[in-house]
Amino acid sequence: MSSLSILPIWLIATYVFLFGLCIGSFLNVVILRGLSGEDFVLQRSKCPKCGNKLKWYMNIPLLSYIFLKGKCGFCKTRISIQYPIIELLTALLFMSVYIKFGLTLKAFFLIIIISTFIVLAMTDILETVILTNHAYFLIATGLIYSVLSLSGITIKESILAGIAGFVIFEIISRLGYFFAGMRIFGEGDSYITAGIGAVFGFKGLVIVVALSFLIQSALALPIITINAFKDKKTKLGISYILVTISIIYIILTNALNLTSSNFYTVSVLIMAGILIYCLKNVIAEIHSKKKLFEAENSGNETKNDDEEFEKGKNIFLLMPFGPALIIASVICIFYLAEIKNILKSVII
Ligand SMILES: [Zn+2]
Repeated sequence: MSSLSILPIWLIATYVFLFGLCIGSFLNVVILRGLSGEDFVLQRSKCPKCGNKLKWYMNIPLLSYIFLKGKCGFCKTRISIQYPIIELLTALLFMSVYIKFGLTLKAFFLIIIISTFIVLAMTDILETVILTNHAYFLIATGLIYSVLSLSGITIKESILAGIAGFVIFEIISRLGYFFAGMRIFGEGDSYITAGIGAVFGFKGLVIVVALSFLIQSALALPIITINAFKDKKTKLGISYILVTISIIYIILTNALNLTSSNFYTVSVLIMAGILIYCLKNVIAEIHSKKKLFEAENSGNETKNDDEEFEKGKNIFLLMPFGPALIIASVICIFYLAEIKNILKSVII
């Protein structure tokens, strides 16, 4: 490290960025071959449409996409925008890790953890699949990260928080059987949470999970609101809008420090009423969709967890939860200490 410190920071940051682009390109391969079940990660890349092996100049991260105008150099098939996005995202995150943590062993582990997060999020977004190998890799990395005393938690806490993450998420998922007759989250989400526990420890785990619920709501609310209006469920749509307004209102009043006034207390009570009204509508909606689904599939008796979960997705019209967990984790890699401070000032 000392020999590198004579180089200007911007130059090292540029190298880290370019390194991130290359790793991002590699992650694209891991994601795709993971989903297609191919083993050889080190095989030469080929166009999925025409099968031609890519020439070296067609395989430069980010630049090739720009120069080839997003098309295959042979057959001119459109290449998914996913490739340059993952490359750029990886590069930016690696550079952020370098700027915050320097050229340290901690930073090295963080870029491995972030890379694993990107793979887990992308397989979940593309095919709602979380491969257990990827999740095990995250858990193992989290444990080694703690063994080397890089995470600020003991190996004992790392193991126990990992187990706690898995168990708590399984319990939440299975609670779904009571009110809707199916799992709330896929099993893959429980494995990711185990990894998050191993990396962040108990306090971090609680903060990441809480933050992920906020992120999921922020991502899902506009979608389910639009869907409700499309389905002519005006009442449901309006309750989603009211909930959104309530959340924005609570955040704003907190930011403006109105939390101690009577005005705030009264309005929070009104918000709570709106939330209960909305929940009532949502539960009614779930039941009507469930009945509809059962009527459509009355002949089919054999069901496993996967099908139950597919059914759940149809009913909730929700997106996979993995990406929200992962966005929350990445935020906490950079800002966990700051979030803990904000929580302390709110609670005390
Ligand atoms: Zn092609």
